[in-house]
Amino acid sequence: MFHCRLALVCVLAGFVWHTPALAWGHPGHQLVGSLADELIMGTNASKKVAAILGPQIRSLQTAATWPDCVRDVQRSSSGTFKYNDHSMYHSPACVPFEGAAERKRMEEFARRNWTNCPGEQGKPASECHKQFHFADVAVQHRDYKRTWAGTSDLDVVSAIQAAIGVLRNGPPATAPFSIKTKKEALFMLAHFVGDLHQPLHVGAIYLADDGSVVNPDSGSIPLAEVMQTRGGNKLEIGVSNLHSEWDDIPSSITLNGLKTGPGKKRRQAMIAAARAVEGMTGDLTLWPVTWASDTVTVAQNSFTGLRFSRKGVLKSGNWVVQFNDQTGYDNAKERVQQQQLVKAAANLAQLLKAIWP
Ligand SMILES: [Zn+2]
Repeated sequence: MFHCRLALVCVLAGFVWHTPALAWGHPGHQLVGSLADELIMGTNASKKVAAILGPQIRSLQTAATWPDCVRDVQRSSSGTFKYNDHSMYHSPACVPFEGAAERKRMEEFARRNWTNCPGEQGKPASECHKQFHFADVAVQHRDYKRTWAGTSDLDVVSAIQAAIGVLRNGPPATAPFSIKTKKEALFMLAHFVGDLHQPLHVGAIYLADDGSVVNPDSGSIPLAEVMQTRGGNKLEIGVSNLHSEWDDIPSSITLNGLKTGPGKKRRQAMIAAARAVEGMTGDLTLWPVTWASDTVTVAQNSFTGLRFSRKGVLKSGNWVVQFNDQTGYDNAKERVQQQQLVKAAANLAQLLKAIWP
């Protein structure tokens, strides 16, 4: 079960809940899966992936959205778990998982991973699987360490490590995860390696009362004064927020945008860039730690050139983002998004080829 190595982590653990923004959204995850499908084509890993996913799901492109579809499993007051295909977040990307058997798989996964986390601020635990998608490492760091505030035994790095374990050795997964089959583990890997490369899914800023950026691990500021920004969900930009701005990818780099004309060339360039991503060596369960450290470093720039002013007086309230140069920021964001999606695909493919050489 979850345990707190530092009092600090315990204090902050209560605040690490994100609203239901979907990292990269379905289009970003589908793109990562699709590029990875191409990168492993013709390898043993490709055969294993196809065999585990079966003829209906078949590709990483389809599989990669699964953990976001699981978010639509709800628990009734009588304690039963039911997938809701009419939720406001419902997407065609989830349709491949809506046959009877796959629907049941989502409901069972959600049920088994519902209460395996500490409850928020003394409340009973629920929907714990939603914590698997992110970590909140203060961007002053240049690395991911399990002792930093905003990391946990259920964060995105831990989730990837648990999925790797099941794909290599079979279930059971390391606690606190409940992963019953290699299919569940592959669904997780295909998605969470994508999440791990979204800068705001790993790097976070913590603010002091006056809007200045503080490091919760420095020990120099009383913890009661440190405010979590929930992966940027609490940082408002008009009707949107900084987290959503990073989740949304430009239509030019969605699967459709890359299908024809100049998009086709751009996709080829992305594949070439993915093939050039540096190869990893050593213990593969440590690879996600290295990747998360890289993402924290990338996330530093995602918060550069921004100022934050408190909206209202409540400490739990949101912040309004002001840009030094919004056009410059947006242009840089699109470049970084493409770079991170490419890295995610390259690293997912590399990991699968290492699991099944
Ligand atoms: Zn996610």
